[in-house]
Amino acid sequence: MQRPYNFSAGPATMPAEVLAQAAAEMLDWPDAQGHRSGMGVMEMSHRGKEFLSIYEAAEADIRELLAVPAHFKILFMQGGGLAENAIVPMNLSRLRAPEGSKGSADFVVTGSWSEKSSKEAARYCETQVAASAKADGFTSIPAPSTWKLNEQASYVHVCTNETINGVEFHALPDLKALGSDAALVIDFSSHVASRTVDWSKVGLAFGGAQKNLGPAGLTMVVVREDLLGFAQSICPSAFDYKTVADNQSMYNTPPTYSIYMAGLVFQWLKRQGGIAAMEARNIAKAELLYSALDSSALFYNKVHKDCRSRMNVPFFLRDESRNQAFLDGAKAAGLLQLKGHKSVGGMRASIYNAMPIEGVQALVDYMRAFEKNQA
Ligand SMILES: *Cc1c(COP(=O)(O)O)cnc(C)c1O
Repeated sequence: MQRPYNFSAGPATMPAEVLAQAAAEMLDWPDAQGHRSGMGVMEMSHRGKEFLSIYEAAEADIRELLAVPAHFKILFMQGGGLAENAIVPMNLSRLRAPEGSKGSADFVVTGSWSEKSSKEAARYCETQVAASAKADGFTSIPAPSTWKLNEQASYVHVCTNETINGVEFHALPDLKALGSDAALVIDFSSHVASRTVDWSKVGLAFGGAQKNLGPAGLTMVVVREDLLGFAQSICPSAFDYKTVADNQSMYNTPPTYSIYMAGLVFQWLKRQGGIAAMEARNIAKAELLYSALDSSALFYNKVHKDCRSRMNVPFFLRDESRNQAFLDGAKAAGLLQLKGHKSVGGMRASIYNAMPIEGVQALVDYMRAFEKNQA
């Protein structure tokens, strides 16, 4: 069965193979040797050997895929990216703070998500906007050399892929080279596993699963061990990274089914050739779509070429009165969920790992036909 291509920004399209495997295992999960458990995954104790094997395989697979070094912990949490906007400052703001102070954090504001993060963190510590691209409508990334970093900051927060604005960091900033001893915190929710990560530059990375890893309900946090143990006293125990790490993400019941599904996605990624192979495909998909936009008289994208997102491509029709016709025709052509975010307008095509290049080609073909039909 050929399903329609789904361009949702999240929760987003999943590999059909993964959904089919989950369906086949829904009533009776078999282990790797094919032994039937007699239970579905969501019916298993999180402390039983069956679920533990699922958990450990998922963790090992994503560690291998993302080449996460041994001195980083991988945590499977809940609350999504938005909860991390509070959990991160509660855990890290005191890293480099004088005794008795809540400490401070710097924010590089490159779109809606980093702006949200900076506002939420201000409830838990001192914050400062070190650089902002708001004045140009979030279509660029301020050069790191221009960032006004606070020498005392415990960490610098960057959203490395702005899902709504379609702006992506194609290289991580090197805080050390900028003269800063702060830890780099990256929100990689919407491009995790789409490209390799230079962990030498990162202190902590977090991402909700529902863009590129699996279903909603799971948040993955990758944190360098030396950043653990600084939580403010108001931090809920279930959100203290050290507590979570010390208990193998099972201080409380983890989102077991979402972890299982993400684990199936990790196995699928390995079958695809791993992250470097996915990255090459993602580059090809993005080039196909952006070159169609750049050569069109009707459609356009506003983001500077050096920071265009490979995952989320916002675009506009020069004749906005044709928006609804475009969306209706797209749906009829089997191209779903292309409407842009309400704060930006226009269209947005999210082309995560699970979107094959054939889906992007189908979108480009449809756009060309739509443009031609009204010329
Ligand atoms: C989706 C998203 C979030 C928010 O995730 P929730 O799970 O809804 O809390 C945060 N940051 C980025 C970059 C996102 O794309």
